[in-house]
Amino acid sequence: NSFLELHLSRPLLRACEALGYSKPTPVQAACIPFALTGRDICGSAVTGSGKTAAFALPTLERLLYRPKNRPAIRVLILTPTRELAVQVHSMIMKLAQFMTEIRSCLVVGGLSTKCGEDCVTHVRGVHLQKLLHNQHIEAYFTRLTLRWASIGFFKTMLVKLCPKRRQTMLFSATLTNEVAELVKLSLNKPLRLSA
Ligand code: AMP
Repeated sequence: NSFLELHLSRPLLRACEALGYSKPTPVQAACIPFALTGRDICGSAVTGSGKTAAFALPTLERLLYRPKNRPAIRVLILTPTRELAVQVHSMIMKLAQFMTEIRSCLVVGGLSTKCGEDCVTHVRGVHLQKLLHNQHIEAYFTRLTLRWASIGFFKTMLVKLCPKRRQTMLFSATLTNEVAELVKLSLNKPLRLSA
C-alpha cells in the first residue's frame, strides 16, 4: 500500500513526498488504479478522506499522456461552492508543483451565494460557458456536495457543454436522489466507491 504501487510518475511521487503523504488513504488506494484506466467513478467519501487527491492524482497523471490535436482545456473540475473551488485549485497546484507545462485556472462566480447557472460564469473577463463552447474538453470531474441549486448547473454543463467521449468522476458526501439522477445522466458504467 504505497504510492509507488499505484504507478504514478516521478513528479507526482515527489509531490506526495513533499506534502508528507506517506501512503495512499483508502479512497485513494481504491480510486486511483481505476481512474488511471479512464473509467468513470462515482464516489462517496467523507470530509478528510483525501478524496481531492484521489481524483487529482490520476487526473494529473493522465495529462502526461499527450494525444495528437489535444485541446487547450483538458480537464474541468466543478465544485458547488467557491470555497471548495479555491481548496481544490490549491491542491492541484501543490500536486503539480514538479510537473512542467501544467496550468490550472480558477474560475469562480460573482457575489451571488447560490451556485446557479448564471453565477459561476464570469470573473476577470473569463466567461466559462463561452470558454467551454469553444474548446473540446477531454475529461470532466465534479466534486459535489448536495446543493439543490448546483444540480441544475452541473446537469447543464455535463449534458450540453461537455463532449460525450470523456472521463467523468463524481464525488459526493451523500448520494441523494438528485445526485443519483445526475450520476445516471452523466456517468458511463461508473465504478462505485465509498470510503
Ligand atoms: P480531502 O478529503 O480531499 O479534503 O483531504 C483532507 C486532507 O487530507 C487534506 O489536508 C490533504 O492534504 C490530506 N491528505 C490527502 N491525501 C493524503 C495522504 N495520502 N496522506 C496524508 N494526508 C493526505
